[in-house]
Amino acid sequence: GSDSGAQRHMAAALVFRLHDRGPELVREVLLERGWEEYDSQDHEDQDWNLYWRGSTFSSLEYRNLLPWQRLNHHPKTVGITRKDFLVRNLRRMRATCGSSLYDFSPTAFILPNDYTRFLAEHENLHLSRERSAYWICKPVDLSRGRGIFIFQDLKDLVYDGPVILQRYISDPLLVSGYKFDLRIYVCVKSFHPLTVYIHQEGLVRFATEKYDLSSLRNLYAHLTNTSINKLGPFYTAYKERVGPGCKWTMNRFRHFLQSQDVNELLLWQRINNIVTLTLLTIAPSVPLCANCVELFGFDVLIDGRFKPWLLEVNYSPALTLDCQADFVVKKALVSDLIDLMNYSASDSLRQRKMTGTDQRLGPGPLPRPRLLPPVDLNRTHNDQQVRPVGYRFSHRSWRVLKSQNIKPTLSLIYSSMETEAPSDRTTGLREQHVPPVRVGDFIRTFPFNRATRKASQHTLDVKKVLQELQRLTNQLVPGQSEKTSSRRTEEELKKKSEGGEKFESLFWGLKDPPFIRPSLKRKENSD
Ligand code: ADP
Repeated sequence: GSDSGAQRHMAAALVFRLHDRGPELVREVLLERGWEEYDSQDHEDQDWNLYWRGSTFSSLEYRNLLPWQRLNHHPKTVGITRKDFLVRNLRRMRATCGSSLYDFSPTAFILPNDYTRFLAEHENLHLSRERSAYWICKPVDLSRGRGIFIFQDLKDLVYDGPVILQRYISDPLLVSGYKFDLRIYVCVKSFHPLTVYIHQEGLVRFATEKYDLSSLRNLYAHLTNTSINKLGPFYTAYKERVGPGCKWTMNRFRHFLQSQDVNELLLWQRINNIVTLTLLTIAPSVPLCANCVELFGFDVLIDGRFKPWLLEVNYSPALTLDCQADFVVKKALVSDLIDLMNYSASDSLRQRKMTGTDQRLGPGPLPRPRLLPPVDLNRTHNDQQVRPVGYRFSHRSWRVLKSQNIKPTLSLIYSSMETEAPSDRTTGLREQHVPPVRVGDFIRTFPFNRATRKASQHTLDVKKVLQELQRLTNQLVPGQSEKTSSRRTEEELKKKSEGGEKFESLFWGLKDPPFIRPSLKRKENSD
């Protein structure tokens, strides 16, 4: 419509910068949207709006950010994306917040440190009925299935660097005998206040040989990484129900789920919970950076009783296009992500101002920046005073900086800003801001109601958030049979959302969730 036309026109001046020339998909999507690619010959050092890289940015890069520049990673998110840090953080949360909500990650040990503890656990299990406990060993800093093996017998545990040992979920849900996991795409729009979106599409990644606990060494049967399975002998073969290749779109998986006797709402809500609860482990310690956004890949395994388990969180989920499912899912994902970043006219105005390429703008104040004060990597949000001030940065200040050949860093800009004392009006505005429930296929899953919005507005009140999550989840837990309770809850939720509580933001399982599923209806009729 006219909106997207205006956006394309506005976007003509936006510049993206890719580290190491990739990912190609990001380039393709941004070029199609009318962006320009950064080129050190044509552009000044600071002349870009988005810098995308697969690896981490340095603290200097965060510190020197200019108001119009955005990065595709928040600082210090390694606390959930490195396997051993994630284990430690979840363990800490379990200890302080209890294990009733934090029960979604398989028991894990970090070796070599936890070796004795692991032995004790192993011994315990051996003495109890669970003789058949299986373990999976993963190097802490590798990805794509590299270096992973599964074992049952202690003598098979061999490692030569830091690894994590995790209870192997040995009864995964199978599709025609094949194991799979879900790749859930999560965008953290902001950590302060915590604002989280989950993409409705996503990928289901299959193993390419039938699941078989008697062949633990056959990685094609036990691991679901594409990088492994695409090298397997059955990758291209047509596999019962799964088809050729090793991926489904989430949409296809939803159709599969509808043929199962499962409380779907509860399943999706538990996945939402996993995402929120995992992010809560680091949210209070992530430094404030209003110019950052991040796309995480959460890997979730569903077991035979439909319980979702978190396997790991990926820092830079692969954006390569290997197969049809990738084409369908990833391109729309990147495009929705750019929409979610909400580039506005001021992003390009500032840029033109800096390079002096747009004389029509003339002297005068820049449009009011929407961005917050500079990133201080040593301070976290909860001990930092965030003043929602109105400010202006005068054109004169720019000229002075430029004439003295001083690089206009974010700190400099803010320190030379004419600040206005925060008025009730500006503070009020900030508090009233409710992030959209949906942008493209990104659905806001946090905050999900007024109480969680309030609990995350200033200092993050983790306890309150946990209470609200528990309350919501309880509404979905069946008191009676799965079928009736899931139908009743859908109706209750519908009523609630009509009454103004934005519970519909939690439905990311279905595009336009019907409140009574056709399959359920049919079953009831035939009952
Ligand atoms: P990587 O970063 O190397 O991909 P993951 O933790 O994602 O490491 O593990 C790779 C694959 O191994 C997963 O996609 C999944 O198929 C399988 N896997 C990992 N952990 C478990 C587990 N605890 N139980 C069952 N399968 C697992």
